[in-house]
Amino acid sequence: MSDWLTPGLDHIWLPYTQMANAPMPLPVVATEGVRIRLADGRELIDGISSWWTACHGYKHPRIRAAVERQLATLPHVMFAGLVHEPAARLAQRLAALLPGDLDRVFFTESGSVAVEVALKMAIQYWRNTGRPEKQRIVYFRHAYHGDTFATMALCDPEEGMHALFAGSMPDQMMAELPSDEAMRRAFDLLLETHGERLAAVIIEPLVQGAGGMKMHDAQTLAYVAEACARHEVLLIADEIMTGFGRSGRMFACEEANVVPDIICLSKALTGGTLPLAATVARRHVFDAFLSDDPSAALMHGPTYMANALACAAANASLDVFENEPRLAQVAAIEVQLREELAPCRQLAGVAEVRVKGAIGAVELTGNIDVDALRRRFAELGVWVRPFGKVVYLMPPFIISAEDLATLTAAVCKVLTERAQQL
Ligand SMILES: *Cc1c(COP(=O)(O)O)cnc(C)c1O
Repeated sequence: MSDWLTPGLDHIWLPYTQMANAPMPLPVVATEGVRIRLADGRELIDGISSWWTACHGYKHPRIRAAVERQLATLPHVMFAGLVHEPAARLAQRLAALLPGDLDRVFFTESGSVAVEVALKMAIQYWRNTGRPEKQRIVYFRHAYHGDTFATMALCDPEEGMHALFAGSMPDQMMAELPSDEAMRRAFDLLLETHGERLAAVIIEPLVQGAGGMKMHDAQTLAYVAEACARHEVLLIADEIMTGFGRSGRMFACEEANVVPDIICLSKALTGGTLPLAATVARRHVFDAFLSDDPSAALMHGPTYMANALACAAANASLDVFENEPRLAQVAAIEVQLREELAPCRQLAGVAEVRVKGAIGAVELTGNIDVDALRRRFAELGVWVRPFGKVVYLMPPFIISAEDLATLTAAVCKVLTERAQQL
């Protein structure tokens, strides 16, 4: 085995992991296309695009070349008082790509921080427009918006970390997604009752990711947007997971013709190469920060803001979207996921199968030994990592029909084995 593995692991604290009995992480030595190569020579087909980032697969030559070029000239420079071409081009391109007048881009390095910046924008927007009492945020059941303190407070209280950190988090307001007439009335009433104190509603459009891969339709999203506008509450779209084609459109909001006041992007922004995030505001939001008063400025500025390597990767990723048929590939993946995951519906211990774009989720019932499922998937040569109650696939968009069939067959096989033991 690798000589770095055990000595190094003795000093690493793994994410979301009980370290007392943590399963050994698999040592990776290389990635290529949709494959993860392990130190023992085995290759796994990646079913989850490295936490939903690697939309073009690994090591796309265009992204690699762009990052190498950038590394040779300007890897990083601070972003206060200085600016560089990769960031300027990327901001301009994102503004052109996003719907409506979402055209002012604030760069950060992670999704959670992009959401934090959106919250600051929303709260300060109301302060700057003379309504400082509008500070609270509404989020939805099953939401996930990040792991930092402000974003934890916007995650589903049952699935998130609310209880653990109660007392240290801001107290926000959870709502149900208004997916039928009665829930629409309830949502409307909530905004009417609390509107005076609400800064924003935050939503993961169409697909709620880490909170359980729950899906809602475009009408529900459109209703949320319409109700926000009616009650003078800003709408923040967290497209950190759905952005860049995952739901079937470039951005999920497009499907409902919704232009949120603020949108958060990250995960697939650099095609899974380097950490980067963007919080993009509509013109009226940005305009509220223009003033003679210095304290009306947006008070945020990460050290690695707009890292030039990451911006170069993101620009190259957008080039790839322009030159390769990504959305057509997502449409084909959706058809195949629907067809090949459907048989799981009949299995004992399966509650539901849901598919949207290049996202296929099987929700389970009963006791779930997540570690055992994960181990079994790796034995079958696929990288699939169920969490909570869901086994899901979110493959790179470039995956071949054959490799995708291997992934769906593995899901059906592992869940069939589980059904036989129930
Ligand atoms: C992953 C994710 C985040 C958090 O992003 P990090 O880069 O992990 O901080 C926030 N919102 C959504 C919808 C996500 O999927």
